[in-house]
Amino acid sequence: MKKRILLSILSLLICGITNGQNKMPKISGTVKISVEEGTIEANVTLSDYSHLNDYLIRLNSGLNILNIESLEPNNFLLGFQREFADSLRTYETISYYFPATDRGEKFLPSKLKFRYAGKFPVINDTISNHYQTKDWKGNIVFMNGLLRLDGVQSTWLPTLYDVDNDYQYDLMNYDLEIVCKDCQQIYLNGCKPINGQKAHFTSKSPKEAFLFVGNYQIQKAKYVTALNAKFSETQLIEFDNANKKIIDFLSTYTNIPYNEKIHWVQAYMSAKDTGYFAFASNPTFVLCGNPPSDLKTTFNEQLTGDFLFTIAHELSHYYFGTIKPCNNTMEILINEGFAEFLAMKYAISLGMDETIKTGLINISKYVNDDNFIFKPMGEIQNLSDFNNRQTYAYEYQVLVLACIEKEIGEDKMQKWIRSLLIGETPVSNKEFFQSTLKKVINNDNQFESIKNKYLIGSETIKYINETIRK
Ligand SMILES: [Zn+2]
Repeated sequence: MKKRILLSILSLLICGITNGQNKMPKISGTVKISVEEGTIEANVTLSDYSHLNDYLIRLNSGLNILNIESLEPNNFLLGFQREFADSLRTYETISYYFPATDRGEKFLPSKLKFRYAGKFPVINDTISNHYQTKDWKGNIVFMNGLLRLDGVQSTWLPTLYDVDNDYQYDLMNYDLEIVCKDCQQIYLNGCKPINGQKAHFTSKSPKEAFLFVGNYQIQKAKYVTALNAKFSETQLIEFDNANKKIIDFLSTYTNIPYNEKIHWVQAYMSAKDTGYFAFASNPTFVLCGNPPSDLKTTFNEQLTGDFLFTIAHELSHYYFGTIKPCNNTMEILINEGFAEFLAMKYAISLGMDETIKTGLINISKYVNDDNFIFKPMGEIQNLSDFNNRQTYAYEYQVLVLACIEKEIGEDKMQKWIRSLLIGETPVSNKEFFQSTLKKVINNDNQFESIKNKYLIGSETIKYINETIRK
């Protein structure tokens, strides 16, 4: 984790994606957890998915499978294989498939039951040798009587991956019973948090299965529900207002109302690191950091600074991550650039023009590093087309967007962003990305010039350096 985004916040990780064409899978059954023992035990059924020609099923590598059963079209225990070549970027998962023949063909029953269990380390004190060397979104963290599980990278539930389309089905409909004998609160993304040791959650729409259980306070305000934030009443109101101002800004900027109740979760960081990292599991936003880098202290001290920028970035993922369907790994990447850009626009709306200008010049040094290898946004095909995700996602892309705005003006930039958010075509679709831009520019020569300077070719950085200093 590097501390060098525009306003010097920590890096922010992946958002959820949706796919308009395929059915979202349903997950049902029971998951038992002990926050004291660090255990997860599951008996769950995966169903309602589209037929996939080539697939893998990802599951966290710390979870051991007892068995997998086909429920439909026939009922029998399945033999399974592991695919070691497949992995999420962060290597938490193992991928499974069911061999149809000895030659590597696969088959996929239409309904599957998984039984599995895992035991994970529990961190309950601050002795340094009880910490991990690093912590990240997909890490399964039992700490201080709490468990946090993201729904994309940790894959604590069996998660289908469409190999042909590079699409992971992490948005699921769910009908899940969560049992935690040593918890007092249970929260599954998309439902209301529950006081109790047992809860039955049924989703109203497909959601990333972020789970947060343990013993914590639930604080409800008008726009925000805060879990484990330990806000005073005044802080809660202030925090609620800060979120409201951002969603008002984003709704106006995009012309799309923000229709979800926001949940903020204060989780801990299992690494002895200063600072925090945050991630979005829409409509839940999670801050992982230990005091004094927790939600309460950070918010209090940085109400007008870095942390406000973090909130704006995360809430922007409602648009670039939820509203906008996306269907591949590249979409996740491009969403980070737009979320960062919208956070920048929010900061500018607060009169922070000079801070942002300086911030852009500061981050340009990372894209100017000779070791940074990349293809421009108009040519990039996959994640192997660059060698530093942080620099590409949060620095290079936002510099490109900021330069395009300088060239075409704020009004046209806003129109372009609005047109990118309409319909189901992914923003990462290059034809859509460029044709929408061409349309708002409404001048073929100017469009070609912008395309040649910032979206293709080998000189994008030269033009970025010139334009951001103007
Ligand atoms: Zn993000």
